[in-house]
Amino acid sequence: LTDLVRFAGDLVGGRAGDWDAAGEIPRESITAAAAAGVLCAQVPTEYGGLGLTSTGNGRLTAHVGSLCSSLRSLMTSQGMAAWSIQRLGSRGQRRAYLPRLTGGELAAVAFSEASAGSDLSLIDTEIVADGDSVVLSGRKVWTTGAWYADLLVVFGQYAGGAAAVVVPTATPGVTVDRVPDPLGCRAAGHATVTFDSVRLPAGAVLGGAGQSVELLVTTALTYGRLSVAWGCVGILRGCLHVVTAHAKVREQFGKPLARHQLVARHIAGLAVDEHTAAAAAEHASRCWDERSPDMVVAAVRAKYLASTQAARGAGTAVQVLASAGARDGDFAARAYRDAKLMEIIEGSTEICQLILAEHALTTSA
Ligand code: FAD
Repeated sequence: LTDLVRFAGDLVGGRAGDWDAAGEIPRESITAAAAAGVLCAQVPTEYGGLGLTSTGNGRLTAHVGSLCSSLRSLMTSQGMAAWSIQRLGSRGQRRAYLPRLTGGELAAVAFSEASAGSDLSLIDTEIVADGDSVVLSGRKVWTTGAWYADLLVVFGQYAGGAAAVVVPTATPGVTVDRVPDPLGCRAAGHATVTFDSVRLPAGAVLGGAGQSVELLVTTALTYGRLSVAWGCVGILRGCLHVVTAHAKVREQFGKPLARHQLVARHIAGLAVDEHTAAAAAEHASRCWDERSPDMVVAAVRAKYLASTQAARGAGTAVQVLASAGARDGDFAARAYRDAKLMEIIEGSTEICQLILAEHALTTSA
């Protein structure tokens, strides 16, 4: 893990602000990360992956998240695509697709549509069987990483239920349009993807026919939620770092900011948020590694806690740095924009609250 952390550090190398400003990570940097297996580090070694545990991958994700949330978002998408293939695909499909993802190709996952945001039962992208092919039609919105992707895992209606299908972006009928000017994670390659009667081999459909959309989506999102939780731990660590460094040296009213009690309270809050978010993510990853049935709810809890605390913590960072953190190129400003989006994706704060409340209602006496 130390080598991977060093690799990621060297790869980003203080360029995250430039990538954010340009709205793009250089293709060679993303390909290098993908080819090193860093973007989906939990893929088992038999498929060319690094075979990290969820805990190991989580710690790596937090490190990348502390440097660059755009690159971390690509880790979340690639890892979620790989996990969907691993979990929903046959052995043959795992063998066909996973080595491509660990070997340098990039993947993204597309659920959301203009009318199907929080309520994914409204997905109306269609996968229709036609002989030994399937034909895919529909439009997906806000697909993170789709701008860079070679493959997309697309969720749609299929055979009276739902299915996920693996779609090479180079297939005729696939159009990828960049989302202009996103609030944050500006270099994460969000895109709208249109599928105009895209013909694919029937073997591109993962798993059997007519599965429940909720089950399929929960499978993919559990990985995504945990990855986002760890990424938010990284944002909190980055914020704590810039805040403590600044508050020790910046003096006002004859002493360092850190010695003013109201500023010290901000620092304490940030430190506690980082600690509790990390504990929740560690717990969820332990559940994952132990294949505990609590894994799904633990991932929701970690994502909810870490994303709300990262949004608050990034706000605190801007507050303490004040004018020193108030420009687009400043870490705190970037964290502020990036963290807010983490409260929206992979199940918004409100959707997580509904799941957590339902869990409490069904498990408490
Ligand atoms: P809506 O569903 O319209 O919700 C609007 C508001 O209403 C939210 O605050 C929501 O919490 C609240 N709300 C909705 N229903 C309820 C309810 N029942 N009770 C209480 N409150 C409710 N999608 C993908 O498929 N793949 C991706 O890679 C991806 N990446 C994304 C990256 C970014 C940066 C963003 C912004 C979005 C991304 N999305 C992606 C889409 C994302 O999953 C959706 O934006 C999200 O599910 C919310 O849907 P919506 O934006 O349509 O909001």
